[in-house]
Amino acid sequence: MKTSCFSVRKIVLTVSAGAVITALSLMIGMYALTGNSIVFYGGLLLTTALLLWGAVLVHLLQKKLLEFTSDLCRTLDGMMNGHEKPEINLDEESLLTRISHRLERLYHTMLENRRKLEVEKSALQTLVADISHQTKTPIANLKMITDTLLGRSVPEEKQKEFLTAAGSQLDKLDFMIQALVKTSRLETGLIVLEKKSSPIYETIVTAVNGVLSALEKKELGLLMTCPEDLCIVHDPRWTAEALFNLLDNAVKYTSVKGNLHIVVQEWEMYVKLDIIDTGKGIPESEQAAIFKRFYRGDTVHEVDGIGIGLYLVREIITMQGGYIKVRSEVGKGSTFSVFLPR
Ligand code: ADP
Repeated sequence: MKTSCFSVRKIVLTVSAGAVITALSLMIGMYALTGNSIVFYGGLLLTTALLLWGAVLVHLLQKKLLEFTSDLCRTLDGMMNGHEKPEINLDEESLLTRISHRLERLYHTMLENRRKLEVEKSALQTLVADISHQTKTPIANLKMITDTLLGRSVPEEKQKEFLTAAGSQLDKLDFMIQALVKTSRLETGLIVLEKKSSPIYETIVTAVNGVLSALEKKELGLLMTCPEDLCIVHDPRWTAEALFNLLDNAVKYTSVKGNLHIVVQEWEMYVKLDIIDTGKGIPESEQAAIFKRFYRGDTVHEVDGIGIGLYLVREIITMQGGYIKVRSEVGKGSTFSVFLPR
């Protein structure tokens, strides 16, 4: 029988009524059999006592339930307002004790969710501040160019110069927005990495293909030391994108006729991919900062870039359970080491 549709009061009243009816029937039955008036009055007394105890029981149960619901409501209100940890008294055997463990778990889940929300909110605020800061210069430049072109008569060859400058500012904005969309999709889990076991050699070749023409332009030498049959579990597309960013930097920050070397080594727990260049190097004071979003070295402003490449690389590598390290010496070159789990 389902009891959930009866109130406790109803159940107690039904049970008490049952007990009283049973006592009355017994009393009448016994009196009919014996004809003894003592049995009759005794039975009547017993029934009255049963009625009284029934009433006391209903009252006490109601009181207890009222205490329980108000305790529960107070605890839940406190939890919802965020300043009250549910009270747990394990020694006390109360109705609340049975659910207090669950309440405490719920409380910790709520705290954790609140903390995550705060972190996400502050990350979003930083992102918005970064975007507004980074887009300020190209937008101001574009405004100045269009104002000049619209405001006064400019000779034809000057017009071309202005338009080329506008085109390069637009390219910069476009690149920045694409990169930001990519990183935010990765961070928010909109892009899920598809890891599968495949040869790392092929992933590296895909990345190298992206920088071939830049390599040729700067007459840089490239050497690759990687076993062709080494398979590791990784997302080939995104890993190639990360390696491309590292190679692109190596090309950008190495002067003409320099050398690049890609070395892959199998370690016990990781596969280590070194991208070594003979470029300008990174001062030690900057090495911790270069993985931050929009960070650009103090001495690289003549080279095109927006400071998002290494940030994206680190995102992609850490999302695959790996990590990245840099060793560098100014004037001698840099080595970026990517560690991917085996
Ligand atoms: P960007 O290259 O667009 O500036 P990155 O995030 O790729 O942005 O790199 C951040 C900074 O790290 C660069 O501005 C540069 O100062 C430094 N850097 C990265 N790779 C190299 C490298 N191979 N050689 C020298 N400096 C580098």
